[in-house]
Amino acid sequence: MKKIQMVDLSAQYEKIKPSIDKAILEVIGNAHFINGPEVTSFQKDLEEYLNVKHVIPCANGTDALQIAMMALGLKPGDEVITPSFTYIATTEVIALLGLTPVFVEVDKETFCIDVNEIEKAITPNTKAIVPVHLYGQAANMNAIMEIAAKHNLFVVEDNAQAIGSDYHLTNGSVVKTGTIGHIGCTSFFPSKNLGCYGDGGAIFTNDSELAQKIKMIANHGQSVKYHHDVVGCNSRLDTIQAAVLRIKLRQLDNYIDARRAVADYYDAFFGTMKGVKIPFRADDSKHVFHQYTLVFEGHNRDGLNEYLATKEVPSMIYYPIPAHRQKMFASFGSADTQLPATDWLTERVISLPIHTEMQEEQLEYITNCVAEFLNN
Ligand SMILES: *Cc1c(COP(=O)(O)O)cnc(C)c1O
Repeated sequence: MKKIQMVDLSAQYEKIKPSIDKAILEVIGNAHFINGPEVTSFQKDLEEYLNVKHVIPCANGTDALQIAMMALGLKPGDEVITPSFTYIATTEVIALLGLTPVFVEVDKETFCIDVNEIEKAITPNTKAIVPVHLYGQAANMNAIMEIAAKHNLFVVEDNAQAIGSDYHLTNGSVVKTGTIGHIGCTSFFPSKNLGCYGDGGAIFTNDSELAQKIKMIANHGQSVKYHHDVVGCNSRLDTIQAAVLRIKLRQLDNYIDARRAVADYYDAFFGTMKGVKIPFRADDSKHVFHQYTLVFEGHNRDGLNEYLATKEVPSMIYYPIPAHRQKMFASFGSADTQLPATDWLTERVISLPIHTEMQEEQLEYITNCVAEFLNN
């Protein structure tokens, strides 16, 4: 059996090697390393795939979130509502910009922000909500957009783990996650569902005015060369990465299907097991399984994590410390925030290997190893 990895990027590459190699060599041959034609082509391809008016490629997902938040014109002290149960980047950029992160509880079923807790956290200083579509499961965007409209708040979706997910709006239309809020952000980190061969990210919006601002901010605040109107940053997607992403975008739906097939296998195995909760799949969205994350109740989660390592089965705890308990945010007094569901999940979640190239014998082995541990 092939060695099991959380993500097997080399096996994925092998299947598209000729086209990837050709595309990379073309960029090297043309030497258009920065802002080459592939960047614009990829931008257009992604706009079409997502059915969104504007895609602005940038250097990574963290930059995408930072630039999105800069474009909203918020001022120091403004509050931004966000889950604590997420990757640190979501919350870090809020503090970096001098804004105040306000951590809100997540739903134990969906792992995403608990929409029943959002309104309690709204104050006169609240300016934005940043939901995260964690592990590939969309947050309850219908409810979030309703709350945002009622309180006149911006919504920035952290779509780094859910690109390609379909979402059913209450008006009956089906849209992609990341295109529902005022701005959507994603990462092309290699292990993401749409990953490049280095760093990359993108920002999406249907608002042309915001798109203009975002473009300027990502490009040193300039709209005309050497005329810098606002303080911006330097955040570009490399041409080589854009060339890779153009090819991989054509595979994205197949990649999502492959991930969902792995999730189906795991679900069938773990679905009937006592004390093991399989991932929730909301009716109104398509789970794209960036991670396959189980919740262990009444079992020794850390023991399982260690046991699997001895069996050469990798497993991960995403994330071992929630944002509100990070020292980074000590000055916000966030450790005193009561987030029992977040703490509860942090102690019980475990993510198993899931990627586009998993083999059935690997899945059989992984599930048997988990069962072995639980039965002992
Ligand atoms: C990966 C990720 C990011 C950051 O992306 P980078 O490209 O690594 O900067 C932000 N938010 C979430 C939820 C992520 O998973």
